[in-house]
Amino acid sequence: MRFDRGDRHRIVSGCSAGTSQEASAAQSVVGRASEARRTFIFGDPMSNVTCTRRLEWDAMHRIPRHESKCAAFHGHRYAAEITCLAESLDDRGRVIDFGVVKERVGGWIDANWDHTAILQRTDPDPGVAAIAASNASHGRPVYWIDAPPTAEVLAAELARIAQDLLADTGVEVVSLRLWETPNGSAEWRRGVER
Ligand SMILES: [Zn+2]
Repeated sequence: MRFDRGDRHRIVSGCSAGTSQEASAAQSVVGRASEARRTFIFGDPMSNVTCTRRLEWDAMHRIPRHESKCAAFHGHRYAAEITCLAESLDDRGRVIDFGVVKERVGGWIDANWDHTAILQRTDPDPGVAAIAASNASHGRPVYWIDAPPTAEVLAAELARIAQDLLADTGVEVVSLRLWETPNGSAEWRRGVER
């Protein structure tokens, strides 16, 4: 539906120029519009079209050696906006179905990050072991990461995982914005990290 504006413009222009043989002219206009749609969707200009799926979850973390309150164990309502790029749209006009991103990446988040703790593997806080044991007893093992679990680190981690999960679809994860709070986010972009 995102292409309707361009097609409508083309159809209106064609109708205003028509003077006779209206049926034939209309058919011709439709034909031109249809051809334009194909060119517009599958031609080079569309190689830069992306789609973005937002996913949300709840988790606890802390930032070892943080200078302020983020050193304490605390929770966030996280959100990630995963942006995918395809060389061309599929035959239904999509980069990728939003539902596929939700099922695969959202499923991974539900299994690994939602309602648990995301902690640095080398976190020296004495409370870590107790949290890990308690969460495990509730079926929510801690997600261990080899760096401080900041928004920046989690954005890069999720981008890597999302790319793996979507690899067989042919799309590239080109950017991922991870919101730690409604006002604070970090963005991973392909080509910056690699
Ligand atoms: Zn935090």
